[in-house]
Amino acid sequence: MMTILYRVHDNLYINLTNRCPCACRFCLRRTRDHMEDSDTLWLDHEPASDEVIAALRKQDMSAYREVVFCGFGEPTEALDVLLETAAYIRRHFQNPIRLNTNGLGSLINGKNIAPLLNGLIDTVSISLNTPDADRYLEIVQPSFGAGSFEAMLDFGRECVQYVPQVVFTTVATTISKEEEERCAAICREIGAAYRIRAYEP
Ligand code: SF4
Repeated sequence: MMTILYRVHDNLYINLTNRCPCACRFCLRRTRDHMEDSDTLWLDHEPASDEVIAALRKQDMSAYREVVFCGFGEPTEALDVLLETAAYIRRHFQNPIRLNTNGLGSLINGKNIAPLLNGLIDTVSISLNTPDADRYLEIVQPSFGAGSFEAMLDFGRECVQYVPQVVFTTVATTISKEEEERCAAICREIGAAYRIRAYEP
């Protein structure tokens, strides 16, 4: 059965789409089809917001700390459903809302999407992966090609104006300490936080 909602630790994850303009060399979609206790995260259709909301209504939302748009794909590929669902959660529940993203949502949607997150998303977590634009192209393989790294950083810059918490992440052990320091400097310049995530095989 396809999974729209799944639990990771104390958080409720929402899986809206399997589309993504990237082909990250480390993408979990390459090695698995589910997370901890979920069924498959491969969707047989993309849920409309009604379907996501119906699934949310069956949940005891007080049992979760945070709601996270994530899943097996890039959530901003399903921007309208993402925004409608976030608005519903905002109206009916207290949970903080996070968007995990590759940061290319403005390229995907052909417009600056950061203002649309205003008031709906509490935390945007963007995969930075590396401080180096050429290396980024090698490991993330974005379909937009050159310029994607800068577009991802610009998205973070824009988000800082509209979203309370903006975080760029890299994965522990995948880059050197020196590269991590360069990532931290990029984040400082943008006014975002920097987090080194644990490696998940
Ligand atoms: S951005 Fe995320 S979903 Fe897309 S290929 Fe990379 S790791 Fe996978």
